[in-house]
Amino acid sequence: MPEIISLGELLVEIMRPNKDVPHGKIGEIYKGPFPSGAPAIFIDSAARISKPFKYSTGFIGVVGNDEFGQSIITKLKSDGVDISKIRVDNEKSTGIAFNQYNSDGSRKFIFAAGAAGETCPEDVDEDYFGNIKALHIMGSSLSISESSREACYKAIEVAKNQNPDVLISFDPNLRPEMLDIKTIIKISKPVLENTTILLPSGEEAEMLSGIRNPEKACKKLLSQGIKHVVLKEGKNGCTIYTSGLADGIKIHGFKVDEIDPTGAGDSFGGAFVVGYLAGLDLKMIGRLSNAVGALKVTNFGPIPSTTYEDAINLMDN
Ligand code: ATP
Ligand code: MG
Repeated sequence: MPEIISLGELLVEIMRPNKDVPHGKIGEIYKGPFPSGAPAIFIDSAARISKPFKYSTGFIGVVGNDEFGQSIITKLKSDGVDISKIRVDNEKSTGIAFNQYNSDGSRKFIFAAGAAGETCPEDVDEDYFGNIKALHIMGSSLSISESSREACYKAIEVAKNQNPDVLISFDPNLRPEMLDIKTIIKISKPVLENTTILLPSGEEAEMLSGIRNPEKACKKLLSQGIKHVVLKEGKNGCTIYTSGLADGIKIHGFKVDEIDPTGAGDSFGGAFVVGYLAGLDLKMIGRLSNAVGALKVTNFGPIPSTTYEDAINLMDN
């Protein structure tokens, strides 16, 4: 039974290898499949970074009965994630996201959810949470379908029943262009009420708090009972806000050549939760997570193979 669990959408991404090539451009090349889905990126990162700390990781989600699904299962398994609760659905295909970047930093998705939104409360098995230390929830898993959302809510309840001290981390990776802000706030509320560590971007913190200033937004979220709000700031690193402390801890990012930013935030989150469980101090956790995020952006595709040692090497240089 895993100590770190995440759940929700499993996808493959099919990506334009070059920027500024619209999806509608007929006959242009895509590269893939790349195993993906925000909670899967998170758990794979947690599995790789936790190797020296020996935490076990597991995932709850659904793929189709096809080779795309197998490619996701193979990747997660080879990086050490328990895949026994990944269900193979015979009715639907594995979820697919076509992903394309532009030189101004914007990106466009064409998304076929397939089995990705099929995760449901019945997939959340109480026995699987017997060793739970940390549960990670993604905003995207709250929005992809009602059954996926209910599965996330149930996972929180079950995790708390099994371990009242469970660490609940939440990455509210929801954007106003995907869903109206009122709905985002409504579906996030039951998670926020149980969140120990919130991992927003500036825009997400502003949206959840209703305050147009990332620092003030994070402080308002802290005042609502969250223990740590970790503001992800892209190449500038992160700032860790802690309840009861007036100032955030600013931790600068690492200088690397960005090749593909997909999944940086999710990879960062996996490292942060592992560092936190391992009892590292906040500054060290921030540095480790920044290193994991930085290494991710040097890799094409959402899930790299970065190890803890790779992150330490970057930190030492
Ligand atoms: P996404 O949801 O697109 O993954 P995010 O907004 O959740 O992104 P980011 O702040 O973009 O998260 O990235 C997460 C972390 O990864 C950053 O806090 C930083 O540590 C690292 N990172 C991201 N981009 C870069 C970069 N260009 N150079 C160095 N580090 C980076
Ligand atoms: Mg994000």
